[in-house]
Amino acid sequence: MKHTATTSFNLAPSALAMVPFVSVENMMRIVNTLGPANAMQQMSQYIESDFARWDQFDKTPRVAAHSREGVIELMPTSDGETYGFKYVNGHPANMARGFQTVTAFGVLARVDNGYPILLSEMTVLTALRTAATSAVAAKYLAPPQSQTMAMIGNGAQCEFQALAFQQILGINTVRLFDIDPAATKKAAANLAASGLNIVTCTSSQDAVAGADIITTCTADKQCATILTDNMIGSGVHINAIGGDCPGKTELHRDILLRSDIFVEFPPQTRIEGEIQQLPEDHPVTELWQVIAGKAQGRKSADQITLFDSVGFATEDFSALRFIHDQLARTGHFVELDMLADPDDPRDLFGMVKRAQNA
Ligand code: NAD
Repeated sequence: MKHTATTSFNLAPSALAMVPFVSVENMMRIVNTLGPANAMQQMSQYIESDFARWDQFDKTPRVAAHSREGVIELMPTSDGETYGFKYVNGHPANMARGFQTVTAFGVLARVDNGYPILLSEMTVLTALRTAATSAVAAKYLAPPQSQTMAMIGNGAQCEFQALAFQQILGINTVRLFDIDPAATKKAAANLAASGLNIVTCTSSQDAVAGADIITTCTADKQCATILTDNMIGSGVHINAIGGDCPGKTELHRDILLRSDIFVEFPPQTRIEGEIQQLPEDHPVTELWQVIAGKAQGRKSADQITLFDSVGFATEDFSALRFIHDQLARTGHFVELDMLADPDDPRDLFGMVKRAQNA
């Protein structure tokens, strides 16, 4: 595994007042310069290396503001040298109103003086980081030589998941299903040139037939049952992405009882993940322990493994760290004048006054 050192920030004080900003347009330029699959592969190394140094991070469940329509969340973390946070929403009804279900932006800052060093869009970046994280988990949990993935829920995250699993896991077939055929059609068209064998399916049951990996990535602000117990054969890996809020799950409880469950950060997943359906003391394994070699991932061919993904702050930190490292290489950013920085740090008022006179 490649360990990527935390970026060092040796800039002169005057240069620190300008903050690099990656707009949606520049994020797309960065992703297209690298190629989406390659970008996720590189990002996955940052995610994996940050999970491997788990102890160095401040960790807290995200701060969530729930409403009838959805949720707005702040996801902070720090490794002692760099601080990061993401602002993200989740509004399942948005799609029908012509808005994204999930949008996000984020910040990295120096811990030593508190100055931001990156402001970035994170709607595209979240899709990349979620898929890269899923693929990292599957590297340790999915059956070896997995070839076929069922992809249930063909919305915004779908193609990113398919490409990350192709690039990082080597899958060659994706079986698509969505209750909205237009979503499946969109995903199939977007993946047509990927080299993946794309199979469109008529139900979840149809989609999981013969799959080594099952990804659920649906959006509904309720406890849904996308998969029932009878649909899950022995030996599969389930990558459950969509259940990521209190009262929002995708799997029937009986599947959880047959699975070995792997989670990001238990205090957050107990509230938000599939395991909110289980007692507080139901055993789970933390993904970082598997990556750090402190716990075993897949143990046997007939084991059902479940990555109960909700998305954790360190993954966004890793993704932002990856993007920060692309700035000098690609030049795809602008500088924002977002920090007031008078020559005499105490003379903030004087700076305002001089600007008026000028
Ligand atoms: P989206 O709204 O773009 O797509 C969701 C798709 O699910 C839609 O096409 C919808 O038709 C489909 N769907 C809904 N119910 C279904 C059902 N019963 N069977 C099959 N398909 C169904 O949303 P998105 O941006 O792709 O996100 C999907 C989910 O993933 C959301 O719940 C989001 O909160 C979650 N998410 C999780 C993470 C994470 O880190 N775990 C990260 C990003 C998004």
